Amino acid sequence: MTLQDQTAAAFRPADRIARLGVSEILQIGAKAAAMQRAGRPVIILGAGEPDFDTPSHVKQAAAEAMARGETKYTALDGTPALKAAIVEKFRRENGLDYTVAEITVAAGAKQVLYNAMMATLDPGDEVIIPTPCWTSYFDIVRIAGGVPVAVPCDGAQGFKLSPDALSAAITPKTRWVMLNSPSNPTGAAYAEADYRPLLDVLLAHPQVWLLVDDMYEHICYEGFRFTTPAALEPRLKGRILTVNGVSKAYAMTGWRIGYAGGPEALIKAMAVVQSQSTSCPSSISQAAALAALNGPQDLLAARAADFQRRRDLVVAGLNAIPGITCRVPEGAFYTFADCSGLIGATTPEGGTITTDREFCAWLLETAEVAMVPGAAFGLSPYFRISYATSEAELREALARISAACARLRPA
Ligand code: PMP
Repeated sequence: MTLQDQTAAAFRPADRIARLGVSEILQIGAKAAAMQRAGRPVIILGAGEPDFDTPSHVKQAAAEAMARGETKYTALDGTPALKAAIVEKFRRENGLDYTVAEITVAAGAKQVLYNAMMATLDPGDEVIIPTPCWTSYFDIVRIAGGVPVAVPCDGAQGFKLSPDALSAAITPKTRWVMLNSPSNPTGAAYAEADYRPLLDVLLAHPQVWLLVDDMYEHICYEGFRFTTPAALEPRLKGRILTVNGVSKAYAMTGWRIGYAGGPEALIKAMAVVQSQSTSCPSSISQAAALAALNGPQDLLAARAADFQRRRDLVVAGLNAIPGITCRVPEGAFYTFADCSGLIGATTPEGGTITTDREFCAWLLETAEVAMVPGAAFGLSPYFRISYATSEAELREALARISAACARLRPA
């Protein structure tokens, strides 16, 4: 046995992570990138980040913060200035009144979610998660010792949780319900009329808290009015965590700043988790996020209009392909299309497509378009396209998908 083998044999992962894997989205991205490096013209429609650049006034604010020497640890869960800007953001955009003590800032909304689950879940506590959902929800709950309870929401119900399904999923062990609107991966968003009956159910279950993930708030399309539960139902505000961030709205995924508003006791418990993990978010990124929140906001509507054009292009292109149907999403930059009409089809190479995973793998290989199968988000047979890329690239990708599908022999 070589020294390297001995070292490998000695490694034993903790039980808490032994059952988790690297995200399928990242694996597909890595495979597509490797194909590109090998010279193949792969179009990647898998990434969950805006393709435009961080606004220049935001970068400038970060440079100025560095020049002023703001390069040290900050207050544990956010600088007073950034927390004040977040209080103001919630007031201005959501009609929500939070105090500074009810605000937390972390290294991305992902860390906000992680802190919240670590701070509240005991072994066996249940978290209700409507699926399809962003894959991290499940694993964050598991790492924190909780039990994710999937509630399937199919395309026929607009991928949205119904009050009956919510009632049926609640048990004495339920601690949280997680809702995400507009949604990754479906782009579906909850209007006030969708939220109201769900909030009525929660009013009758005082032990259940609600985490709402509003990350895609600013990517909503015409005809849809964004709203958030803490503003809709003041009687529930004391057990709602309203999560948001700058990653998607301001194209700041790499800066790693997310935030939330919620009851002070919860916010304090989350700060305990953060104090023993990252200490504080990056000082420079906090200065940048402050500039994003306090600066001009007109770029948000301009970006949403860009995304809407791309959404229309992709939805029309997909619906023109026999065997694929795609609902028109209200927001975010994803389409989640049904490919049940292609399951069982025979490929020109002589194989059979039996799952959405196989469909996506076949398209990557033959059409050189990378997409993520619905299975990765908990609902099959579907596939997710992220249209945060140029219209030219989207047109080319649609042409390739369409030509590839035309070569399939239906079941
Ligand atoms: N929530 C949802 C629904 C997301 O899609 C993402 C990013 N993919 C996040 C939260 C996390 O965003 P960040 O950590 O960059 O703030």
